[in-house]
Amino acid sequence: MVYAIKNGILTDSNNPVRQIRSKNTGGAFPTPPKIVVIHFTAGGSAASSANWFASKDNTNSSAHVVIDRDGTIIQCVNFGEVAWHAGKSTWRDIVGLNRHSIGIEIANWGALRGGANGWSNAAGQRIDNVVMAVHRNGNPDGSRTPIGWEAYPEAQFEATVALVRALRAVYPIAEIVGHDDIAPVRKSDPGPAFDMVRFRQRVLGGRDDDGPNTGVIRSPGGLNLRSGPGTNNAVVQLLADGTKVLPIGANGSWLEVTVLDAAGKPSKTGWVHGHYVDLD
Ligand SMILES: [Zn+2]
Repeated sequence: MVYAIKNGILTDSNNPVRQIRSKNTGGAFPTPPKIVVIHFTAGGSAASSANWFASKDNTNSSAHVVIDRDGTIIQCVNFGEVAWHAGKSTWRDIVGLNRHSIGIEIANWGALRGGANGWSNAAGQRIDNVVMAVHRNGNPDGSRTPIGWEAYPEAQFEATVALVRALRAVYPIAEIVGHDDIAPVRKSDPGPAFDMVRFRQRVLGGRDDDGPNTGVIRSPGGLNLRSGPGTNNAVVQLLADGTKVLPIGANGSWLEVTVLDAAGKPSKTGWVHGHYVDLD
């Protein structure tokens, strides 16, 4: 998939993307959108959610796109127009995110219901692709112990990455947030099953000159990650040869780094001797 946006309309490798248009829009953006808001639909297929946005029974909600579990995208609102996805919301100095953001709905059931036969969705169907997690704002039922959340398939995640990269080529998108960031009391989407750290890294790291400055540990026997700059500081972890790190500070010949795990996700932070770090 190679997404492009022209006159607010999405194409995939120059082919049209399915449009199910919603009339629930607020007209042209007053200023170009600079935030992307990620949601889950709490529902079944992308088409079912898009049809709801287009339904004449629905006069108060929409989103720019809905992304299906297999990565197929349906566009519902022109990217140049305000969609109604955020509701009452606040982020930094912005109140009411609709007028400043692109809304992406991802087909996903969100928090699941537990039972003797595993986890099921609101329709009572069993869901096997589950991530066990606690929502950082507390689970929707108020609990603070791990519950099942529907996982986001990789194809869906990657389609979302590709879409937001295409948006960044056209709009001054500076931040990606979840609905649960901008309306934390009311909303739990996209929730803990959506790896926002990895998502931001994949999107913002998409251009070489715009991505993080990374380094690779080059030491056949491994390299000690220490709690401070110098061999007198405690060893936090032995980093294997080839481990990727993000340099975040320096002190003499020592580098402060954030260690990336196999999935490219930030894990521990500590200090390593810079001689063994191959910076790109
Ligand atoms: Zn939402």
